[in-house]
Amino acid sequence: MKSVDGGPLRDQAAQLKRLLPWAAGACVLLAAWFGWSGWQQQRDAARRESVTQARDAAVLAAQQGLAAAQKQLGERLASPGLQAALAAGDLAAAGQALGAGWNGAADAAVLPPDLRAEYAALPKSGYGRLGVLESALATGKPAAALIRHGGGTALALAAPARAGGRLAGVAYVRLPLQTVGAGLERAELADGTYLALRQGGFSAIERGDDALAGGAEALAAKVPGSELRVAAAVPDVAGGPLGLGALGCYVAAGLLLLAAGLAWRAPQLLRARAAPGGEGEEPVHTLAETIEHLPSPAKPEPVIQTSAVPAVSPVAATVDAGMFRAYDIRGIVGQNLDAGVAELIGQAIGSLMHEQGHADIVVGRDGRDSGPALSQGLIAGLRKAGRNVIDIGMVPTPVTYFAAYHLRAGSCVSVTGSHNPPDYNGFKIVIGGETLSGDAIVDLHRRIAEGRLHLGDLGTLQQRDVSEDYVQRIASDVQIDRPLKVVVDAGNGVAGDIGPRVLSAIGAEVVPLYCDIDGSFPNHHPDPSEPHNLVDLIKTVQHLDADLGVAFDGDGDRLGVVTRSGENVFPDRLLMLFAADVLERNPGAVILFDVKCTGRLPGHILRHGGSPLMWKTGHSLIKAKMRETDAELAGEMSGHFFFKERWYGFDDGIYAAARLLEILAMQPRTPTETLAALPNGVSTPEIKVAAPGGDPHAFVERFRDRARFEGARLSTIDGLRVDFAEGWGLVRASNTTPVLVMRFDADNADALARIKAAFREQLLALQPDLSLPF
Ligand SMILES: [Zn+2]
Repeated sequence: MKSVDGGPLRDQAAQLKRLLPWAAGACVLLAAWFGWSGWQQQRDAARRESVTQARDAAVLAAQQGLAAAQKQLGERLASPGLQAALAAGDLAAAGQALGAGWNGAADAAVLPPDLRAEYAALPKSGYGRLGVLESALATGKPAAALIRHGGGTALALAAPARAGGRLAGVAYVRLPLQTVGAGLERAELADGTYLALRQGGFSAIERGDDALAGGAEALAAKVPGSELRVAAAVPDVAGGPLGLGALGCYVAAGLLLLAAGLAWRAPQLLRARAAPGGEGEEPVHTLAETIEHLPSPAKPEPVIQTSAVPAVSPVAATVDAGMFRAYDIRGIVGQNLDAGVAELIGQAIGSLMHEQGHADIVVGRDGRDSGPALSQGLIAGLRKAGRNVIDIGMVPTPVTYFAAYHLRAGSCVSVTGSHNPPDYNGFKIVIGGETLSGDAIVDLHRRIAEGRLHLGDLGTLQQRDVSEDYVQRIASDVQIDRPLKVVVDAGNGVAGDIGPRVLSAIGAEVVPLYCDIDGSFPNHHPDPSEPHNLVDLIKTVQHLDADLGVAFDGDGDRLGVVTRSGENVFPDRLLMLFAADVLERNPGAVILFDVKCTGRLPGHILRHGGSPLMWKTGHSLIKAKMRETDAELAGEMSGHFFFKERWYGFDDGIYAAARLLEILAMQPRTPTETLAALPNGVSTPEIKVAAPGGDPHAFVERFRDRARFEGARLSTIDGLRVDFAEGWGLVRASNTTPVLVMRFDADNADALARIKAAFREQLLALQPDLSLPF
């Protein structure tokens, strides 16, 4: 071809000709891409269809298997032989009749409804087994759940055993997993698909490609009448280019091939048209695709270091044993607590860390006047024992817990007197991620008394400020949908600075009340569990026409909430709201609560697809139980809330307030309306009664043995809790003061009066001089 000298038009035409084959090639490649994507989408649709069919068949088979087993259980419970045994109160014979001749059934029994022996035998008796028994009793209906047994998984069934309308016991039987799993095991699965029988976060049976397990909840279907579900997955096929479906992709591929053919033939066509040399138009295909992978933040692991040879300090000293209590160390400054005592405690904690191989520890303190001196003493002792200390200064207790994770120390001490009077102070201790309690705390005292203290090379000390990290960590996850006006009452406690900062950062309009930190607590005690400490907050909320009032205790690990209508929303009702929210994302999750919570709570948790579990009062006991049961959420009547979901599982009043605002802002109703809609009855706050002889544990033990409550369910997890059909009452020993703690709660005022009267009668029968304020 001869290049004609002259015009730019000619040059362009020549250039275009050279580009045309490339354009044709690009079109072919694009066509191949669209074609491939169309084929993938078609295959994906076929797989999806086949796996949903297999899933539905498995759900139906599980439902039928379960229904047949429950029918069997119901028929056996109603049989004359078993009814006679129940009527005679012979539960052993009833259990035998229940299991006799039942193919595959094991461990059949009828248990007394208080489940006392089951709780006493934990963990050997099995949490799963206890959970299903509790669930049958809480709902009054048959319950089923998968449990771990002998290294495998089994189906546990439980149902209330009634004789003539009276609750005589609770029936239990264990059946093979195949009862509900046979259908799934038989299911025919297409290549590259996945099916699983699940309960909560646990997969009992998995079939197919288990690399798909992580995304299987999107196609999960519930097995009606149980907590089980069948999860299913197909490989994640990205949508077609430009969002086209399979058909669209095929059409696009066809058009592109056509374009490729035209581009390929264009030189000939152009040559044919020859001289006029019009401007060719080149189609421009640009395509950019960005895939964003959000890095998931790695969870900091506690630092573990191997321990060296122990050395023992020869000094033995006297420190008041009474300070070493169930959940923390607490003393009165100037009486039994000073910087010297704090140093010994620091060295004892450092010695324990040394033995367990933990090198680093965070120290924070609350706003009390004695804080700086005690903190200094504690730090000196820790460093003496060779520990490296990070001093984060004056912060709420939960910020200290947070720093232990954030700075990867794994251990921390919060120097705090919590909600107690100004002259009190103390220590909350976490070592290697575990909150110290009971014996471990008492053993710190023994170490000091026996001089079993490690003396190492002086540890390092650094100062850090983590408060902004804490605020940002929460604000990056929690943002409220609409602004809420919130009054924050910190009672001049240490949460007064960071509490309002967090709530502002998540989008709330904050009005601070008593938020200047003052260790003499000039306005009221920073204890939101005492209703009279909330009076000013209620007034302020009403006066400013705010949406809500929140109160923190002296060290910020507890939360109190009041509404515009002046209602003090008790923590057990807040826990209902938190549980429903957490369960939306975590079906089947274990939700823990302490024995002081309302009897309406377990039902509420069950209705939202969760597994309620009642446990002993005390923040360190609850945290230990959470780890053991993998619970996503826990709460205590005292106002401690522990979020595992999206947080670290420690009790944090400030974080709980942020989550509360998040939930309330999502509702179309006002916060007052949302909170008022939670199931409610009439209840007393905690009633504290001086224990006879100053020993509440001895009294509670006698009461547990002697008290008689006809037709009620007794639980002895912590004290004696008696659940009637219309409400419940509790008497337990305080672990922190020599008092009996009581609480009563019922559907209505008449029922509450009846329950109080029943308790009064039983309490006075045991101890006529007990002064009861009800
Ligand atoms: Zn506290």
